[in-house]
Amino acid sequence: MLACGACSGVSVAHTTVNGVVAGQRQRASGAGGGAGGGANRGGPARAGSASGRRSTGSGLVEQAGPPEGHLRRVAGGVVLLRDQVDPTAVTTPRPGVSPSAWRPVDPLPAAEPAGTRHVDVFYTPHPDDETLSMGVLIAAAVGRGDRVIVVSLTDGRTTGAVTAIDSQLAAERRHRPGTPPTLLTEDEVAAARIGELRRATADLGVAAGDVFLAHLDGGGTDGGGVVTVAEAAAVIRAFAARYPGATHVTMSDAAERQQDHLDAGVALRQLLDVGIVTAAQWTVSRLWWQLPVPRWSWALPTPADRSRVRRAALEYELWNPADGEYAVGFHSVRWQFAALAEDVRDRVHGTGPLVAGAVPTR
Ligand SMILES: [Zn+2]
Repeated sequence: MLACGACSGVSVAHTTVNGVVAGQRQRASGAGGGAGGGANRGGPARAGSASGRRSTGSGLVEQAGPPEGHLRRVAGGVVLLRDQVDPTAVTTPRPGVSPSAWRPVDPLPAAEPAGTRHVDVFYTPHPDDETLSMGVLIAAAVGRGDRVIVVSLTDGRTTGAVTAIDSQLAAERRHRPGTPPTLLTEDEVAAARIGELRRATADLGVAAGDVFLAHLDGGGTDGGGVVTVAEAAAVIRAFAARYPGATHVTMSDAAERQQDHLDAGVALRQLLDVGIVTAAQWTVSRLWWQLPVPRWSWALPTPADRSRVRRAALEYELWNPADGEYAVGFHSVRWQFAALAEDVRDRVHGTGPLVAGAVPTR
């Protein structure tokens, strides 16, 4: 029987939501805000309109409201409730039209000389999934001495979180008369999210040159604002050719309902089935942990891994509009970040032995 939408999922030990580490810059929390210092590097909002924004077109989008869940105190801890989620809902993969619809804008990361490090390539559909759902795996791979490459399939430019961010900016303007009206453009949102991704992956131990942007939600791509299976497969094919024998990791093809997540997972499954890739793992976002998947395990962090993941998560809370930092991840899926802060682990299924620290449960 499928779990009901209001069932609890994550048993955690504490109730602190956003109080893990105090950073130098202000983090978005509650009435958060405050311009903070720092030079203007051209990214902050300017007067403009909301034109250029798009809906993702998918049934489920990462956005500020309605929230995807909330935390509730229970005896012994806190649980993440997902009463906005219908577990019986089905998302259908979007096949896309052409496997050659994608060409890299930037050169792929450097090749790895044969016989040196094992390579793990993580495909994060949006900036934040690598931390929210793959953070333990990434930290563990770095800890093993693997070469870790993170590919962001999208820039996350179509997030509905801009509504909440614009509201936050408007609230700040009321305290600073004379500040021009502000609505973020898609390019500004994308730049902020990529900044969050780069800081978070650095915290996880990934080399800056091994973070790659596929821009699948850019103009003129196969799926427009969403990822298609064909697009994701084209990206994975390129990396499979460049890193023979690598392990490829993305979101689950079996227990995801977010369109971009599911399409990436299905693409990886197809390439595994035809032998283009030989080692594949999928992770499940905690929003869908109640859905069944075969032969899954928890990837559990070492204390060092846990620290890295929590530090990475904080990058998505940085609020400093003067520097183009808008805490997009926090405004997008704040309850998932809240749950992650309390319960750092990944739900994983895939081929071969799972990472060190994983505890097979089925
Ligand atoms: Zn996502």
